[in-house]
Formats: sequence, C-alpha cells, structure tokens
Amino acid sequence: MRFDIITLFPAIFDGYLTQSLLEKAIRRGLVDIACHNLRDWSDDPKHHKVDDRPFGGGPGMLLQVAPTVAAVEAVETFDPRPARRLILTPQGRRLDQRLAEELATSERLLLLCGRYEGFDQRVIEILQPEEISVGDFVLNGGEVAAMVVIDSIVRLLPGVLGDEQSSFEDSFSRGNRLLEFPQYTRPREYRGHTVPEVLLSGDHQRITAWRAEMSRERTRQRRQDLLDENI
Ligand code: SAM
Repeated sequence: MRFDIITLFPAIFDGYLTQSLLEKAIRRGLVDIACHNLRDWSDDPKHHKVDDRPFGGGPGMLLQVAPTVAAVEAVETFDPRPARRLILTPQGRRLDQRLAEELATSERLLLLCGRYEGFDQRVIEILQPEEISVGDFVLNGGEVAAMVVIDSIVRLLPGVLGDEQSSFEDSFSRGNRLLEFPQYTRPREYRGHTVPEVLLSGDHQRITAWRAEMSRERTRQRRQDLLDENI
C-alpha cells in the first residue's frame, strides 16, 4: 500500500516513519510512504509562499488553491495506482475503526495536511477529497492527524503485526466491535494484585468464555453505545 502525504512540514514525519512498526513495515516493503512539500508547487520562486489572507478579513492565513491543486495533481502521477484523496480537517467524517478498515483495502491514499486556518474552499470544490477528522478538537496542523490515520491503517495490513489475530481482537475491531478484555502478564502477583485464576488454568474454553464476558462487561460499563450498535 502506498501513502503520499502533502504537507508544509515533511520533517515532522521523520521520527515517526523511522521507528518501530512503521519502520519495519516500510523496510519489508509492506508500505511505501512518500512525503511531499507543498512549497515545491508555489508560484512564488523567491519565498515559496503558499498562503494568503482570507477574503472578507479575519485572523490567520489560508493555504492557496493553485499550489495545492497543482501538488495533488502532480503527486498523483508519481505512481500508476489511482489514489483515494483524503484531506485532514476537523470538519470531516470522524475516523473510527470501521473507516480505518475500509481505507486499509485501498491500494493508495493521498493525504493533504492543512496548516494555519486551513485551505481555500476551492481546494475541496475542485479536488473533491474525502474530508477526515480525528476528533472534535482543533490541532495546529494536519500532520499529527495524518499519522493517526496512517497508524490505524498500517496495523491492519497483512504481515505488519506479528499475529494477525491481534488486530482482529482489538477494541472496536471486526472480532466483536466491543472493548477488549483485560490482559495480564508476569508476575502472577504484584502488591497483592493477582492474575485471575482462569487465565492460569490452561482451559482454553473457559478462558475464551471469560474474555468474552469481560469484554461485554467492560463495554457495558464504559461504552454502552457500542453494545447498542451491536444489537
Ligand atoms: N480553521 C479551521 C476550522 O476551524 O475548521 C481549523 C484549522 S487547524 C488550526 C489547521 C489544520 O489542522 C487543518 O487545516 C487540518 O488539516 C488540521 N486539523 C486540525 N484539527 C484537526 C482534526 N481534528 N482532524 C483532522 N485535521 C485537523
């Protein structure tokens, strides 16, 4: 799967792409991630400016339509696979596990990261991207939101996690769409807190039943809305 990220700050991605699961997935050729600097499509040869003041007044700057449209159209030609266009915005469809699973079936995603007050509205009108939000709060830029989108997708791709079952059983996932059951590792006892006996029993039927029960109970306590959805 290929990701193309268009941003004013490609260096923000350096650490994220060179560590842990992402680094491994890239090294093993499971994902290909290319960052592109929006300023490369500026029509201002001197300062590479890509923002301007909003018509009608108001605080802040907006990212201009011409360099943004030019960047998307150029980046799309860098690979023969058609790209699903996503723009990060607090006004978009809220990312959830179902959307991450759906996006993970794409061959290629192009992510457009905003800054300042966001983009000139004609970017949306012309490129018609899917508008994606990572939550009802406002970030300084789309880069962290793009990382959230990529991270939620990459762990679903075949071969990325050591054990495929792991992402199947995660909270919100295809396994049951509920919160995951509690988990324990060694030692068996710490400061008087012990591991539930069933997990040490070696009886896999009982363990599976206990986990299913704990998953439902935890979801009932914390996220009744998920149980209601599942009815
Ligand atoms: N003025 C915009 C508004 O009120 O909708 C917010 C602009 S925000 C300061 C700058 C950029 O950060 C946005 O263009 C977007 O790319 C990104 N961003 C901020 N919050 C986000 C969120 N919750 N989800 C996705 N992207 C977000």
